[in-house]
Amino acid sequence: MSTAPDTARPTAYPHLLDPIELGPLRLPNRVVMGSMHTGLEDRVWDLPALTAYFVERARGGVGLMITGGYAPTRRGWLKPLASDMTTRLQAMRHRDLTGAVHDAGGAIALQVLHAGRYGYHPLSVSASAVKSPITPFKPSALSAKAVDQTATAFARSVALAQKAGYDAVEIMGSEGYLINQFLAARTNHRDDEWGGSASARMRFPVEVVRRTRELVGDFPVVYRISLLDLVEDGQTWEETVELAHRLEEAGVTVFNTGIGWHEARVPTIITQVPRAAWRSLTARLKAEVGVPVCASNRINTPEVAEEILASGDADLVSMARPLLADPDFVVKAAEGRADEINTCIGCNQACLDHVFSNDKASCLVNPRACRETTLVLLPVPDAEPRRSVAVVGAGPAGLAAAVSAAERGFAVTLFEADAELGGQFRLAMAIPGKEEFAETLRYYRRRLEVLGVDVRLSTRATAADLAAYDEVVVATGVVPRVPEIDGLDHPSVVSYADLLSGRATAGARVAVIGAGGIGVDVSHYLTHEPGETLEDWMAHWGVGDPAEDRGGLTTPRPRKPVREVTLVQRKTTPIGIGLGKTSGWAHRAVLKQSGVRLVSGAAYDRVDDEGLHLTVDGRPTVVECDTVVVCAGQESVRGLYDELAESRETGLHLIGGADVAAELDAKRAIEQGTRVVAAL
Ligand code: FAD
Ligand code: NAP
Ligand code: SF4
Repeated sequence: MSTAPDTARPTAYPHLLDPIELGPLRLPNRVVMGSMHTGLEDRVWDLPALTAYFVERARGGVGLMITGGYAPTRRGWLKPLASDMTTRLQAMRHRDLTGAVHDAGGAIALQVLHAGRYGYHPLSVSASAVKSPITPFKPSALSAKAVDQTATAFARSVALAQKAGYDAVEIMGSEGYLINQFLAARTNHRDDEWGGSASARMRFPVEVVRRTRELVGDFPVVYRISLLDLVEDGQTWEETVELAHRLEEAGVTVFNTGIGWHEARVPTIITQVPRAAWRSLTARLKAEVGVPVCASNRINTPEVAEEILASGDADLVSMARPLLADPDFVVKAAEGRADEINTCIGCNQACLDHVFSNDKASCLVNPRACRETTLVLLPVPDAEPRRSVAVVGAGPAGLAAAVSAAERGFAVTLFEADAELGGQFRLAMAIPGKEEFAETLRYYRRRLEVLGVDVRLSTRATAADLAAYDEVVVATGVVPRVPEIDGLDHPSVVSYADLLSGRATAGARVAVIGAGGIGVDVSHYLTHEPGETLEDWMAHWGVGDPAEDRGGLTTPRPRKPVREVTLVQRKTTPIGIGLGKTSGWAHRAVLKQSGVRLVSGAAYDRVDDEGLHLTVDGRPTVVECDTVVVCAGQESVRGLYDELAESRETGLHLIGGADVAAELDAKRAIEQGTRVVAAL
């Protein structure tokens, strides 16, 4: 195994771009695209779309891509009729996919995943009949014979993957799926040969790997090992190391690493998790084993990846969502164009939130992800006269439209009234844990420059300015709603926009009106203790050392909120219920950790010197405060569009918040901006 950089090649990322051998498989670089279920795996008719998705990333230079999970048995399905690799016919159907990836210069591994008790169906099975807190179905306990058969089924799936033309497999042993369920006392209550002691609980994964190796010769086998379970009665570090030694002996070629079961109540990948937060555990594993080890989770830039490799913490780096966000991540890094990478911001809004809602994955910053065959930005033919496009507003909708139009070959002018790009998204960047959002604006800024878009900042476009353009895309966005509440002109009242842009400040006691996404974010902003280090973050979430605390869980250290905040809404539903499926719980937990007082079912009476007066459950009450921040939703800015619509019959388009303000988010804004241009 070579770890020395190729010094002959001038690059900022010599370690990242250094080839590596995994058994008979030579990879051109250290980038692994980690497994992500996209929803395109489950149906035969989606295979061409799945192929296009992987081919685009193979062309983008990814070293090794790993598919979403394929079950080794039907009882191991993630959901009814989900993907499995159990028959020769299925394997043959994958040959077009693997062939196309190879033609594009890539390498691809199939992930074999048995969902165990995470299977969202009544036939789910596990080590013991212990229901998971995140699925409604109680699994049946596998009989001893069925455990034995399941281990063999894993090996058969791997052999089928080999026949299907895959270059490797990954056996999913982390994130709380079946193999993890066998390993932890939390879910393995057996007293036969597959349980009872930590050593006996390891028998199942060891048998899976041993039988696999027996069946497939030197075929590369990646094993995804859980370094930190983050659940009660999870594994200790000593157990993890013993498991790694036994798996290595059984024939693992490379260890990929996983952090946290899906049911863990510690965030592991969302944007508020510090970058590369878990790398030290990867380094600890690497010191214990002789095969290569791959780092994962919240690694989203070539700089971070390079630094992990250069410091010797890992041999490979896994990035899944960053390659949804930008299929050309590797090639851009290699060509010295890292500033053009469309960085994953860890929002989960279009990837995991979709998958966990039974929808197909995509990406907030790259709506073409997983839609490579249907959302196509065709270049305008050279023979056609170059049409002009004016985009008004440089929020996410307008930025996506301007860049997409320039990529297609239109002559684009982008008008922005403000002195900077970004619109409301710039306010989002001010929220602690959403700093990554700045990367999206860096990406757009650089792409506009490279594509030669005529960007006119501090220019509020008028109808007259736009008369000469062939196409006008209006993306004038939203402004904060000013609700009708008595006393809203009191000096203590500020809008979230004024607060987050620094035009207004808040006192020590604050009432927040409106508990949507922005109200929750503003409450976090107001209570946040500045200067939080990685150690502080771990301590607040109760992450300990798995060598001392089983599962890596310890007592959380309380936060010290810098303000006293009360968050109010009129609805009676739980606060923050509309937040993202895979991130909302973490935002709600931060509010709790920060002592934010939540008031639901309120009617707003007035604001005065005393504070915010409410009626709750028919009783008047007052939130004594120095500042009231209004986060009561937004309204569309439509004046310009309405004016243009009077004189233009064609070539006028309305997108983003200017189109519909309700339930607006950047996902919709960027997708709409891209789609409108694809259709021009
Ligand atoms: P806007 O962002 O409002 O942009 C419109 C732009 O048009 C503005 O820059 C404005 O100056 C300009 N403009 C208006 N009129 C003219 C004119 N006549 N000439 C030139 N320019 C003009 N979304 C998410 O998806 N996920 C999140 O986690 C998230 N968090 C958020 C947190 C906060 C604190 C905030 C405030 C928002 C958050 N959002 C989030 C919402 C997201 O930022 C918005 O949905 C998105 O910005 C809307 O995009 P837009 O382009 O439609 O409008
Ligand atoms: P929102 O989610 O629609 O919430 C607006 C809030 O204002 C609601 O809680 C509503 O609650 C209240 N409200 C509405 N009209 C009011 C009135 N007339 N008087 C008093 N209160 C009123 O909008 P938002 O918080 O402004 O967020 C905008 C968008 O940004 C959202 O759609 C969201 O998707 C996106 N965003 C997402 C995230 C994220 O983490 N994914 C974070 C921030 C923002 P009641 O009616 O119950 O009072
Ligand atoms: Fe990353 Fe968000 Fe895109 Fe998912 S949707 S890949 S988290 S930017």
